[in-house]
Amino acid sequence: MLKLNNVVTHYGNIQALKGISLEINQGEIVTVIGANGAGKTTTLKAICGLVNITSGKIYFQGKDITDKPTSDIVGSGIAMVPEGRRVFPRMTVLENLQLGAYLNGDKNQINKDLERVFELFPILKQRLKQVAGTLSGGEQQMLAMGRALMARPKLLLLDEPSMGLAPMIVSNIFDIIQEINRSGTTILLVEQNAHMALSIAHKGYVIETGKIVMEDTADNLLHNEQVKKAYLGE
Ligand code: ATP
Repeated sequence: MLKLNNVVTHYGNIQALKGISLEINQGEIVTVIGANGAGKTTTLKAICGLVNITSGKIYFQGKDITDKPTSDIVGSGIAMVPEGRRVFPRMTVLENLQLGAYLNGDKNQINKDLERVFELFPILKQRLKQVAGTLSGGEQQMLAMGRALMARPKLLLLDEPSMGLAPMIVSNIFDIIQEINRSGTTILLVEQNAHMALSIAHKGYVIETGKIVMEDTADNLLHNEQVKKAYLGE
């Protein structure tokens, strides 16, 4: 469904991605784990057209999306939930969700999609009129995910959904990620919380200083000695 072929990106003179190749099949949860600054966020930005690609190619459903405008990429079925949630703090929960549907003009469809988001995140229904900036961190993460789902993505990109959240809330959010996947959305999850990410993913990649250094089934990575030492604190 998504394929990155040797993708290189720069910030000024600094090479942030040094030839990233990865592949996601339809229906999978794929995770990219790695330390702070390894290039996880930049990988997601490259997919969405938010950073310039120096060389390499990105294909989505067989089509070359390298260097396409972000609006076209979103229109083709990719949505991203950015790191640190980035909800619009002065807008209400409902307004934030409605913004996620900006490419969709059909009111009936939007209402159906809203109902689906409320099934996944019942708390958002209770907070519809509340301004997003006053939600808890976990609720803001749920809102950011709900907003992305309003765009009806085929592929959902999640940037560190666990960041700054208590373990119980992380566990709740990861259950919901699995449920979103079971209902047909393919997921690319980048995480520093390797244990949680590998425990729900089908396949995993380990990224270090802009390069993929390991690739395997999530289960094999969870039991890999190197991964255990470097990323699972064992
Ligand atoms: P984190 O978990 O901290 O977000 P990450 O794995 O997502 O880490 P990236 O944010 O992709 O890492 O950063 C990869 C490298 O690119 C890092 O060395 C970072 O300092 C650098 N970098 C990221 N954004 C910029 C920018 N806007 N300008 C210059 N350098 C940047």
